Amino acid sequence: MFRVRLKQYCSRLGVSTVNYSLLLPVAVPIVFLLAVSSGWSREIHILHYNDFHVNNSPRYTVDEDGDGYYRGGAANLKGLVDSLRTVYSYDLLVNTGDDFQGSPISGFTRGGSQVAILNAMGVEFFCPGNHEFDYGDLNLLEQLAPASFYTICCNVTDDQGRLYWPAYHIIELGGLRLGIIGVITAGLPELVVKENLEHSRVLEPVEEIRRWLRQLEDETDLQLLLSHSGYRTDSLYAVTLPGIDAIIGGHSHTELPQGRWIGNTLVVQAGCCGNWLGDLLITIDDTTGAVTLTDWLHEVGVGQVTPAADMQLTVKQLADQLPAELSEVIGQLAQPWLRERGESNVGDWTADVMRTYAATDLGFMNLGGLRRNLPAGEITRLDIWEVHPFGNHYVTFEMTGQELLMFLQRVARDELNESFAFSGMEFSIHQELGVVSRILIDGESLILNRSYTAVTNNFIFSHLEEIFTLDPALVNARHLPELDRDVIIQAVREQQTVTAVNHNRITFY
Ligand SMILES: [Zn+2]
Repeated sequence: MFRVRLKQYCSRLGVSTVNYSLLLPVAVPIVFLLAVSSGWSREIHILHYNDFHVNNSPRYTVDEDGDGYYRGGAANLKGLVDSLRTVYSYDLLVNTGDDFQGSPISGFTRGGSQVAILNAMGVEFFCPGNHEFDYGDLNLLEQLAPASFYTICCNVTDDQGRLYWPAYHIIELGGLRLGIIGVITAGLPELVVKENLEHSRVLEPVEEIRRWLRQLEDETDLQLLLSHSGYRTDSLYAVTLPGIDAIIGGHSHTELPQGRWIGNTLVVQAGCCGNWLGDLLITIDDTTGAVTLTDWLHEVGVGQVTPAADMQLTVKQLADQLPAELSEVIGQLAQPWLRERGESNVGDWTADVMRTYAATDLGFMNLGGLRRNLPAGEITRLDIWEVHPFGNHYVTFEMTGQELLMFLQRVARDELNESFAFSGMEFSIHQELGVVSRILIDGESLILNRSYTAVTNNFIFSHLEEIFTLDPALVNARHLPELDRDVIIQAVREQQTVTAVNHNRITFY
């Protein structure tokens, strides 16, 4: 039995909250029958985790009673993996991407720190996520050179159409031949700054997976997909591509305590951030020849597992590479910064700092760009680096009231892949109808034919067309020189005690 607390988890696309009660394994369909042999059962465990996001050290979070606690961390995760692997006869450790980006060490080493963590963790198969491309496609190839694991991905090529990594790998384990295909989201081009993908092409995943599946079906007993595509897309793959036995997912940070059967495919995903380790069990009953699949999550609770000493050392050696001045205390937080779905105190505060810095009418901060909660108390420079790890800068641009209205209507219809914190404005959303109303700019009614100045970061600006339906060449854009985290650090220094409140700028009715 696994006790699961109320959790908050965050993706680039927003934040959700889920409550689980006690969980028990459920009966599972027989996948297929193998020839009966010894009369014994064999158990193969595919341990899996995803979206680790540089949670090398345990992280602060808040339970359902509002009490803060720490969870995860590479040494605790490795301790859990090691303890299971000493017990299991046949096992593999796989990772489905987004290990980069989330803490300064990843930026300093351009992802190299996380390849070192994957190596030390003993990962055997890895499918990259969108954040692995955050420091550029060529950089990713370079950082993966010392990898002691196999990288597999069937749908990213160089500009000549050659795959960067093998599409699949076949491994024999416990008498079963497993075919493992890797795939990354088709949305990769929208999820990274455009220059970081300039040498690469992203292929349409379904056709690519189908092609390799056909090949594997003749050569293997079981076909697994390592997928950095998100739970919804994985569910579609399960429906569209019935030859896959299990999809080990990532990207949406979805906690699937027992996996989900979709047709004959078991879709699994282990939340994010090293808080969970997934355990996909393949059982071969040698009396009947039945092969069954089941999956569950182990919680990586601080104090509940013995941290692995070798990983503690790796984490420390990496942390020692960071400049000492990052531990400088720059101010105090009066109350925790908590990212929530929709509006939050840290979102409103950050959007206000951006707008003040850029001296614009409006501020737009994407919630996926805020990567950490922080407890109340002292704030260090390192804390700000962890909340803002991307090294973005701000960009100002102009838009008319009409263009703002069109954008907010898309927000109200939930058409965007990003959620925003807003500064300088407030509005209402009628949820059922998906319409926006009562838009006020600095307390005044929106004027449709007036021009407003706005600020956002360069990540959002590089997707201005998709998000705001504005042509970046026609909006009088100005790129501001400072890094976003330096602007935030300066704001904390000036305020000394930061009081961040949720202003309820968006009301729902
Ligand atoms: Zn992702």
